[in-house]
Amino acid sequence: MPLILVVEDEPKIAEAIRKTLSLDPSFIGEFVALSALALPAALRLKPDLILLDIRLPDGDGRQVLQGLKRNAATSRIPVVFLTGLGSEGDKVLGLEWGADDYIVKPFGAMELLARLRAVLRRYRPEAASAGDIELGPLSLEPSERRALLGGKDLRLRPREFEILQLLASHPGKTLSRSFLIENSSAYGLPVPTRSLDTHIKNIRKKLGEKASSWIETIPKLGYRLSVPGRRMDG
Ligand code: CA
Repeated sequence: MPLILVVEDEPKIAEAIRKTLSLDPSFIGEFVALSALALPAALRLKPDLILLDIRLPDGDGRQVLQGLKRNAATSRIPVVFLTGLGSEGDKVLGLEWGADDYIVKPFGAMELLARLRAVLRRYRPEAASAGDIELGPLSLEPSERRALLGGKDLRLRPREFEILQLLASHPGKTLSRSFLIENSSAYGLPVPTRSLDTHIKNIRKKLGEKASSWIETIPKLGYRLSVPGRRMDG
């Protein structure tokens, strides 16, 4: 159960991260909004990973990182920067300060989860397959962003993988269009709703003739993944 300490002052972003972490039941999130609270929270919670905003109202996330690295009790906790800065120079600077990765706002839910899993995997190799999904002949490996059918790589595009991953995480359940769009897109960016249908069309095509019908269109609601031989109350 990876515990993620999130240091983020913007309520909207914090809420987006909270929603994102709730998509994977194995993640637990704890939140603080000030740089001064980051080290005390890290010492108290001993998180598996810290998601750290660079621009905080009472200080700079890079200084928080320095403090974490200087303290023997927290120096080995991986840190992922949240940055709205965006430019190449700032990204490199973040990594030079000793962060393990960075994610640029606005980010997508699935992208964030994939980054967190990748960093956790480096630190805890046993967690590598923790998020894998097996549904009969269909298997998804979120850490590799790869979907396999009968062992064959479907070669999904990132957005296609994210949509299939959402459906496969809730087998037999109808997911609304808005849920699928919101969680497979970058928070805060305008979303072309029509593209959802295009992505579904492409996923079905890649699943092939037989398996394409596993993704059902539920009129006026959304989509549902039902893999034969699977319990449908999933
Ligand atoms: Ca901020």
